[in-house]
Amino acid sequence: MEDSSKLKVRIGGIIDISTIDWLSRICNVVFFSGCNFKCPYCQNGKLVDPNYGRSLEVDEVIREVLRSKPLIEGVVLSGGECTLQAEGLISLCEKLRRSGLRIGIDTNGSIPHVIEELLERGFIDRVAIDVKAPLDPKLYGEVVGLPGQGDIIVRSVERTLELLLKSRIEVEARFLAVPTITCSTDFVREVARKVREATRFVIQQFRPEADLLDPSLKRLKPPTRQELLKLAFTAMEEGASEVYIRTKEHGLEKVKR
Ligand code: SF4
Repeated sequence: MEDSSKLKVRIGGIIDISTIDWLSRICNVVFFSGCNFKCPYCQNGKLVDPNYGRSLEVDEVIREVLRSKPLIEGVVLSGGECTLQAEGLISLCEKLRRSGLRIGIDTNGSIPHVIEELLERGFIDRVAIDVKAPLDPKLYGEVVGLPGQGDIIVRSVERTLELLLKSRIEVEARFLAVPTITCSTDFVREVARKVREATRFVIQQFRPEADLLDPSLKRLKPPTRQELLKLAFTAMEEGASEVYIRTKEHGLEKVKR
């Protein structure tokens, strides 16, 4: 077993202080490099490469995070897909726990056993999980850029959702509305049925100016606020209790009936 003080993680970047990555909390954000999905509309394209960024010992990451400690309540471990670097992630969470900071994870839900361990060990306070499409294997595989792997992906996302929804922690389900790919009331209806017990459901606006994995999607126009509101009302019809939309123009807005 590797000495945990020497464990390394590959990090694409760290935001010292963020007010938008964890609702109502000021936090630090650590972006892990590498992702096992290939979503063409990925808004953080560089981070999908497992070699992007720098390799740091877990203790070095802790030191960087703790520099912001007087000003932050928590830390969000994001990506890429942070659960791919399981050993480093778990060690990081264990050590951050001792510092008294709250810990949030952002995940695509594809590696449930890591989420299970983090939950069982009481290391995390919030998970934001992307649910990118209805949980139909063929569709999901296509939407995440891995046609043919939809069966295993959907089984994993379903298992992660099951673990999260029976846990007592804060669960944020996120859906990115991408024109011509996912921006449809039928998609949102199906997704909302699966996540209605989450703490909140956030429908996010695709941004073509982002660092996209497939630059040809830069030609797409972002959905308007009105279009996102229509999706939000659909989610509410399906029983999602707290529904938000996020747009470039207005930031995060809670949608009221
Ligand atoms: S959008 Fe897709 S490819 Fe990009 S980080 Fe998230 S899961 Fe990975």
